[in-house]
Amino acid sequence: MIALHERYKALLIDLDGTMYHGEIPIDGANLLIQSLREQQWSYRFVTNNSSATPEQVAERLTRMGIAADAADICTSAQATAYYIANNDPEAKAMVIGEHGLRQALTGQALEIVEEQPTVVVQGIDREYTYEKGKRAVQAIRAGAQFIMTNPDLLLPTSDGLIPGAGSIGAMLQAASGKQPVIIGKPSRILIQYALDQLDCDAEDALIIGDNMLTDIRSGQEAGCHTALLYTGITTPDNYSYYREQAECEPTYVYADLHELRKALNKQQ
Ligand SMILES: [Mg+2]
Repeated sequence: MIALHERYKALLIDLDGTMYHGEIPIDGANLLIQSLREQQWSYRFVTNNSSATPEQVAERLTRMGIAADAADICTSAQATAYYIANNDPEAKAMVIGEHGLRQALTGQALEIVEEQPTVVVQGIDREYTYEKGKRAVQAIRAGAQFIMTNPDLLLPTSDGLIPGAGSIGAMLQAASGKQPVIIGKPSRILIQYALDQLDCDAEDALIIGDNMLTDIRSGQEAGCHTALLYTGITTPDNYSYYREQAECEPTYVYADLHELRKALNKQQ
């Protein structure tokens, strides 16, 4: 079989369930990233999380002993801002979301408004209120475009599973009767953003992650090969169930990050 480094030019690596669980790094994450850096692999960490800035994500990884710079991170918030700036740089955005999303939008010189938006941008918002939902639904019904950073219904935290961005989005969809543009995995838009940052074609990139419904499915959507890890959501026991749900299969499966590191080693 052809070695991975001869087949792929870049890696798109998931974070939650692949590099860490909450604040706890996954065994072998630090060694894997150290090895990728030493061997000059091109890669980005690609996350559906829209609440944190790339700087905050990099700090979190560094705190856990996993080497990372802000430039290594692609968040759904950045991809959302990039998508809007490319499609409608004059957009006026109403935001349901947190700091990372607002910073990404202003970073693309987009205007954030409280009234009469042309686009409603929605991510996770842990200070979500009925009032925010009301204004967003009225704006969408009046014709504003509806964009969701990511469709995740649940978010794993040290407090257990909590409602994610997708759960807030589900309310807006139900009330407005409109389907949103979705940016985060499994959508190809976040993947395309990361590929653009790496200047890499889809067929030359490998997506790495623990979730069949988001990471592996996004490969199907974007035209990338994928590597599934049994470090998070998917296990050998539930694999068939998720394969059916995702209607796709990974190109490779690795039990853990040590196996993956060996497969990506260029000196073999
Ligand atoms: Mg994950």
